[in-house]
Amino acid sequence: MAKMFIAGEWAESASGMTYEVRNPATGELVDTVPKGTAEDARRAIDAAADAFKGWRETSAEQRSRLMQKGVELVQGEIKGLSELLTREQGKPVGDSEREIEHFLHGLLFYAGLASKVRGAQVPLPQKGMQGFVIKQPLGVCGAIVPWNFPITLMGTKVGPALAAGNTVVVKPASTTPLTAIRIIELLSRAGFPKGVLNIITGPGGVVGEELLRNPKVRRLAFTGETATGRHVMEVAGRDLKRVTLELGGSDPMIVCDDADLDRAVTGASVGRFYNCGQACLAVKRLFVFESIADVFIDKLIEKVKRLKVGNGLNPDTRLGPLHTAAQRKEIEEQVEDALTRGAKLLIGGKRPEGAELDKGYFYLPTLLANVPEESRAVQEETFGPLLPIFRVRDLDEAIEKANSSPYGLGSSIWTRSMPNAYKAIERLEAGNVWVNSLHIGYDELPFGGVKASGIGREHGPEALDYYFEPKGVAIAL
Ligand code: NAD
Repeated sequence: MAKMFIAGEWAESASGMTYEVRNPATGELVDTVPKGTAEDARRAIDAAADAFKGWRETSAEQRSRLMQKGVELVQGEIKGLSELLTREQGKPVGDSEREIEHFLHGLLFYAGLASKVRGAQVPLPQKGMQGFVIKQPLGVCGAIVPWNFPITLMGTKVGPALAAGNTVVVKPASTTPLTAIRIIELLSRAGFPKGVLNIITGPGGVVGEELLRNPKVRRLAFTGETATGRHVMEVAGRDLKRVTLELGGSDPMIVCDDADLDRAVTGASVGRFYNCGQACLAVKRLFVFESIADVFIDKLIEKVKRLKVGNGLNPDTRLGPLHTAAQRKEIEEQVEDALTRGAKLLIGGKRPEGAELDKGYFYLPTLLANVPEESRAVQEETFGPLLPIFRVRDLDEAIEKANSSPYGLGSSIWTRSMPNAYKAIERLEAGNVWVNSLHIGYDELPFGGVKASGIGREHGPEALDYYFEPKGVAIAL
């Protein structure tokens, strides 16, 4: 049985209760974990609050060295960790390894930044007065993580928190706690003082909720659904906690008539079907110029036909299962709704056949055309292998439709024209724009959403600022 990690020790739940984590490809039991209670969460928060007193006094150099050592320890176990991630999450094992590599790259990015943080000296109006801005860590930070990228999205919170001198309590999604637990314990072995890094498992509405309500938690970094994010902000707001929210998306991809079509086809296929479509920054609405639409769609169908669906542990699998039965049901209902309203099915639209796929939550990669605007597949986030394709006259129409979504996370344009690209960069209502590129989250660039996609940024030096409180200092000389 896996355990929680609190104050440098393995911990069971105060209730003694556990729950099962099952493989979404096979239904097999992967492991059991403690079903944490509010009391367990309080223990972890208390441990992090105690540890903060000493941790905040450590030098940035020292924190950076511990992070680097932790990265080496995780790197040494990457094969086993990748397999475990695939067994609990479902994604192809090569993608699991890339996810953990990305997590480690992010930790090294913030380990490197730790000693480069600058305050400021500020001229003040009166003679004999001198102003300064110093940056101080906040205290206990809660990191609430979803199941689609359980490791990178933990890293985007833990990395800057540790570098800035804060302590952390991680709350993974209930269905993907196992690799995260192993990684937190491995990082701790680098020599972090007890209580600096903690991880608690259990229902979001119980252990997560305690993180929102407990006054010792000074900052919350949340990634998950927009509806949960609203709740997080409301509850944490009562206590004036610092909050960043990375929420849902419905990223548009625009393909102009002068685009490199083969590269754009790959961009659409990988962009939509990576992680079985369960990515916040996945391509979720495709806008193609009318004049090239037939050619483009034929090429895309051919590409999608070749995507191999299967158990993520098989090396040739490109599409694993959906993560849960509920996730698959939602996609099935969104497809059904679009077809009922008159959409045209281009490929997919059903579960794959075959005895080895029967027990998993598999669904074929699906392309839809002529999807009416009021369909659920357009109005809601589609979190699975489903891509609606729209024909547009020109770039103005594409941008207008792209911006009609309540979401504003990522977006992309594929064109050889600089004026087209620049127009899209300026006008698309999104936190990120990619030009002739896959939708990829870089550690070096700020990432986050506008509108219903969230508040604040992760990644980049920008994210570090959310883990400091600037203090204004005026000195009479
Ligand atoms: P979710 O909102 O259901 O859960 C996210 C986390 O919140 C889980 O750990 C869950 O246990 C916890 N939680 C649930 N209720 C809580 C409560 N009352 N208090 C505290 N914590 C609580 O989201 P999910 O289904 O795990 O993730 C998928 C969603 O995440 C999608 O909408 C996706 O677009 C979004 N997402 C966004 C980004 C981004 O960077 N913008 C990245 C990945 C995923």
